[in-house]
Amino acid sequence: MKLSFRNRIALLSAIASAITIGLVFLVVYRVVHVTAYRHLDEDILLEKEEVLSNIRWSGDSIILEQMPEWEENEHQQIEVNPTFLQLVDGGGELLFRTANLQKDILLFDPKLSSDGFFNSRIGSQRIRQGQFPIQNEQGEIIGHLTVGISQEESAIVLHNLLTTLWIAFPLLLVVLFLATSLAASKGIAPVKKLIQAAAGISEVNINARLPLPENKDEIYQLATTINELLHRVESGMQREKQFTADASHEIRTPLTAIRGTLEVLLRKQREPAQYEEKIRRVIGEVDRLSAMLDQLLQLARFENGSVSVFPSQVFVYPLLRSLSEKWQTLMQQKNISLNLNIPPEANWTTDVALLEIVLDNLLGNAIKYGHSGGQIDCIWREENATLTLRDNGPGIPEEHLSHVFDRFYRVDDARSAAVPGTGLGLPLAKKLADLLGLRLSLHSRVGEGTSFELGFP
Ligand code: ADP
Repeated sequence: MKLSFRNRIALLSAIASAITIGLVFLVVYRVVHVTAYRHLDEDILLEKEEVLSNIRWSGDSIILEQMPEWEENEHQQIEVNPTFLQLVDGGGELLFRTANLQKDILLFDPKLSSDGFFNSRIGSQRIRQGQFPIQNEQGEIIGHLTVGISQEESAIVLHNLLTTLWIAFPLLLVVLFLATSLAASKGIAPVKKLIQAAAGISEVNINARLPLPENKDEIYQLATTINELLHRVESGMQREKQFTADASHEIRTPLTAIRGTLEVLLRKQREPAQYEEKIRRVIGEVDRLSAMLDQLLQLARFENGSVSVFPSQVFVYPLLRSLSEKWQTLMQQKNISLNLNIPPEANWTTDVALLEIVLDNLLGNAIKYGHSGGQIDCIWREENATLTLRDNGPGIPEEHLSHVFDRFYRVDDARSAAVPGTGLGLPLAKKLADLLGLRLSLHSRVGEGTSFELGFP
């Protein structure tokens, strides 16, 4: 059975109430029951004292000389709430019983050696009985006095109480269920409002936000949380749009250049040297395009979170040494020297393949943008396991520092224009550093150089 949220609350509350009310009813019934019987037992004890004061005993025999007179006064007829008396001797032989018992005999337990109370019946009448042993001076039991009192009145009260409780119980539950259901429906009205408002928000009006209630309660928190979520979704969508626009622009530019170059070549016959020069340019563009697509695919893969990290102990010195070999030709062309100030035991526990991509981008940039005849220092700080890659290149102007980690962002100067690049290297490095739990920070001053610091936070 599928219940609405409102009815689920009502049902749960009704179950909780059923248990509580049931327990309260049980306690009430029990208290009334115990009180009623205590009163009966007290009456029986009073009656016992009175009877015992009217009998005597000598040796084994009980002397009842005053009993007939007493009975005459007390129990001549069957009363509304009659008291019954019965005396038996030590052998269980009946010595005396009140006239209101007529031919009936009160239930008697010969084995009972101390005072005892129990319920029994005389005909159809329910009675409460007390049985008391009578002892002589030597402490021997010479007889038993049994006092019975009708418990019809108490039984009727208890029966009425039980009937009332049984009828009231389900009725109360139904009323409670309906009341809670009504209260719950009022309570969730603001949630329904939020649902309605949220249902009206789609890609078209993703900038819309849910109305905030006046009370700063849980509903307010829910609406605020959904609004924050909407804000993140909106920013994500905007970034996505921007990325698509940037990516198509970045891909179209080299394609247009390639097309233009090839068209120029087709227009007329040219010298072989001219062909060679144009074809080299086209190859350069194709290489740039292919590098960009590689980086775009890598970025997409890492942003999807579809990449697994396999941590192992990575020694920093040999890793940078092998990376520098890849850049050897360019370093030689620009006469850049690389100074690896890293002890051989310096290591991180991280994913070697992903760290290699990060370091390759940072080292590649230092070489690509560094001055000819410049120097690159790689410094390891053991105390906080931090690696710094510092070049004495042109530096990055301050206004660009906050943007260089944005996708496709390239510092727009003659140097960057002359250096082949995609503007995807640093965003990729940042993404991977985040993925590996490494902190990547940048310090740069125009004319002095740039340094990237990488370390565990
Ligand atoms: P690119 O493919 O253009 O190198 P990156 O994302 O790696 O893309 O770098 C973004 C921009 O940051 C570069 O275009 C460059 O202008 C600037 N940059 C990065 N590293 C350095 C550096 N070591 N020295 C000077 N400028 C740098």
